Amino acid sequence: MTNFAIAIHGGAGTITAASLTSQQEKVYRAALQEAVEAGHQVLADGGSSLEAVEVAVVLLEDSPLFNAGRGSVFTKEGKHEMDAAIMCGKTLEAGAVAGVKNIRNPVKLSRAVMDHSDHVMLSGYGAEEFARNHGIAFENEAYFFDAFRYRQWSEVRDSNMFMLDHSEKKDEKFGTVGAVALDKSGNLAASTSTGGMTNKNYNRIGDTPIIGAGTYANNATCAVSCTGHGEFYMRAVVAYDVSCLMEYKGYSLKQACEEVVQRKLVNMGGEGGLIAVSSNGDVSLPFNTEGMYRAFKRNKEKTFVGIYKE
Ligand code: ASP
Repeated sequence: MTNFAIAIHGGAGTITAASLTSQQEKVYRAALQEAVEAGHQVLADGGSSLEAVEVAVVLLEDSPLFNAGRGSVFTKEGKHEMDAAIMCGKTLEAGAVAGVKNIRNPVKLSRAVMDHSDHVMLSGYGAEEFARNHGIAFENEAYFFDAFRYRQWSEVRDSNMFMLDHSEKKDEKFGTVGAVALDKSGNLAASTSTGGMTNKNYNRIGDTPIIGAGTYANNATCAVSCTGHGEFYMRAVVAYDVSCLMEYKGYSLKQACEEVVQRKLVNMGGEGGLIAVSSNGDVSLPFNTEGMYRAFKRNKEKTFVGIYKE
């Protein structure tokens, strides 16, 4: 039987057992399980990895629990600007949007850019106009308002500090979302979506929509979706680096992920993690923070959902 698999993440950071109540933990676990199983169902029904990652990411974007779509963090201006990307491992086609406002599901917009334009990345106003022309749903500001996120931003809005959604405060955690999948035809896909970092400069773009940094897929190697301090992920070209180690050095998925997340990023001071699935169905979910919201499901195996270090 051909392996098929999907893995998702909901962000990495200072997430410890002591920082979540058992009720909060339950809610996160349920949201992760629902998203990974919805994506897995697409694969089990013979759907493509692209569809599967999109279905999973849409569910995570629609949840206020995660820093993407509805739950996006506040920028320095008190607004929400979102980044997203999607990539097809078979064709190496990719679509990305950066700094978009009021888009309900940035992942759908990135898919539209991939499918219906000659470009890879659109930003700001141009991306929004493209969205209007392609029937992508918009939401008003109220849709993106979240009391916790507002409080989180209020504490740093007068400073120059910007932070990973989940690294400073120990009691409430959220995060960027992503999905990677391998379908029954052997095709890989990756997608990532984020509101970025709390109190980020307006118009700041992170690693998420940058192909090769936060998102990458190639049928010859693996599909990768990252979460963490984007500035480091861009400089370390993290997602492509994992793929390169497999392609040029013959590393296994696990070896490549360990090298990049536990050595290269740690040496640079880059906090975060990633999820990856290889063309033969291996899954790796490394992180160098205290926790990462994550889940995966392969073939008919039991769903794995994790938050803390095992
Ligand atoms: N990587 C994202 C960014 O820097 C943040 C995150 O993963 O939470 O925009």
